Amino acid sequence: MEITLGQTKLVLIQGDITVQDTEAIVNAANEGLRGGGGVDGAIHRAGGPTIAEECRRIREERGGCPTGQAVLTSGGQLKARYVIHAVGPVWSGGSRGEDELLASAYRSSLELAREHGIKSIAFPSLSTGAYRFPVDRAARIAMRTVVEYLESHPDTFTEIRFVLFSEPVLKSYEEALNEILGK
Ligand code: ADP
Repeated sequence: MEITLGQTKLVLIQGDITVQDTEAIVNAANEGLRGGGGVDGAIHRAGGPTIAEECRRIREERGGCPTGQAVLTSGGQLKARYVIHAVGPVWSGGSRGEDELLASAYRSSLELAREHGIKSIAFPSLSTGAYRFPVDRAARIAMRTVVEYLESHPDTFTEIRFVLFSEPVLKSYEEALNEILGK
């Protein structure tokens, strides 16, 4: 699915985040920036050791990255020039501010990209793997946050791409976007 909002193409596809040709890709990172399974492991494997080295430096300088925020490194051997490491919340029932923290992780990533003049960015489905955030709920938050961001920044990005790993997750994001667009 693909729509245009202002100057930005918003694209939802099924695929692997590590092979995307956008200027930046977003990692589903953890507060310690230590790498892990899922998207995080795949990005570090594909990008090589310089990404972990830069993460280590950020950890030493600022102690990592709090939940709901994001930090930037180079893309190492990836096609993408940058990796934005966003920390989504661990799901623990929904009454610990998870919704707002997830929205904040998306917004912080978009803000960081904008500050660095990045024009195209690819996101995975943050928090919906090991962090167990329910996918339908996460998809609505992701789509709402991005659409709202594009309404207030219509000329900032050429493309925002969501790269969903499986067909059911892609469907969930498509439904959420259609709902928000009022279709
Ligand atoms: P979190 O710890 O934030 O929950 P995960 O990496 O465990 O992050 O999972 C987030 C989502 O990313 C899940 O839907 C998972 O299926 C998906 N995923 C895993 N590997 C990839 C990949 N290479 N590209 C895109 N999405 C992926």
